[in-house]
Amino acid sequence: MDIYDELGVKPVINAAGTYTVLGGSRMSEETLEAMNSAARNFVPIREFQKAAHQAIAKLTKNEAAYVSNGAAAGLYLAIAACIEQKLGKPFYYLTPEEIASCNVLLFKAHRNPYDLVIGHLGARYRELSFPNRIFPPTEADLEYAIDEGTAAIYFAASGWVAPGFLPLEELVPIARAKGVPVLVDAAAQLPPVENLWRFSELGADLTLFSGGKDLRGPQASGLMVGCKALLDRVTAIGFPHYGIGRMLKVSREEIAGLYAAIKQYLAMDHGARYDWCEAQIAALREALDGKGVFTVRRSFPNEAGQPIARAFLEIVHPRYTAASVRDFLLKGNPPIYAYSEDLPGIFINPMSLKAGETDLIIKRLQRLKPGGAD
Ligand SMILES: *Cc1c(COP(=O)(O)O)cnc(C)c1O
Repeated sequence: MDIYDELGVKPVINAAGTYTVLGGSRMSEETLEAMNSAARNFVPIREFQKAAHQAIAKLTKNEAAYVSNGAAAGLYLAIAACIEQKLGKPFYYLTPEEIASCNVLLFKAHRNPYDLVIGHLGARYRELSFPNRIFPPTEADLEYAIDEGTAAIYFAASGWVAPGFLPLEELVPIARAKGVPVLVDAAAQLPPVENLWRFSELGADLTLFSGGKDLRGPQASGLMVGCKALLDRVTAIGFPHYGIGRMLKVSREEIAGLYAAIKQYLAMDHGARYDWCEAQIAALREALDGKGVFTVRRSFPNEAGQPIARAFLEIVHPRYTAASVRDFLLKGNPPIYAYSEDLPGIFINPMSLKAGETDLIIKRLQRLKPGGAD
């Protein structure tokens, strides 16, 4: 029996994207089998981590790699490693006062709920510039903001960041000259697959990806890639060591699952996947555009900045609103999740759909008639 049936929880159709609150992504059978095979036997965890991390570093063209239990957990470890490096003493021995003497620099435009780990570690935020276009930051702004307590620069790479930050290419030389490591939060920046090494090539010291989003690894996994010296520190702070690493346990199943998922992501035909997504948008347009309820448009890139198109179904009939259409989709069986982003319509994101689901969404939406739902 299906576990969701057994517990009386309804699975949903995810037309929203790689949202963690819906499960992020679907693992392949091959990934599930890698996790199963890891679960069947004991293994010295440090030895397994070392082998998997080396293999992942090689696959992703990076000096080093580390599997964490999520990008947010990875960020916590990365900043701890930077603080340790700044203060020259293992993180385990640092006092709250010593940690508080460190700051992490970030643009106000990059503030987001994932950066809360900076405060949780006890480091200070040093916020730079303004999250708008009025007074764009200059290289001098960054140079003067770095001081003797600056342990790291946090850079959020995403489609939803506000204007008001220096591009990574301009930021890196300044950070390098001052000896401050740059952490790139690229949790949702796959695709394109090249991003697995692109941020490192641009000079990021560490880049963080979510394992449970488009990589399709275990939901509770994350990938860190980059500079070996910093990742050696992360390894020494992280699981299975006591201290903060112990709270951020990464199971052998997750390590195995993420390793398998990365291999498949690299081997995947990304062009065919892009074409499939375009075909879903064309099908939605063909079936629903200009029939009285919706105007259907292609929207590119998506809200995370990923180069995959979505369909935007603008509501053109006064009987319906974005909220009422979303509600109608959610109340059906199976429930369909689609987001609006405060616009007068809904987005259908093909990234998280599988074959057949677009048809189901179309059939459901065709029940909305200009004269009212049937
Ligand atoms: C999703 C996301 C995270 C968190 O990733 P997890 O793997 O779920 O911990 C962090 N930062 C950004 C920008 C994200 O989009």
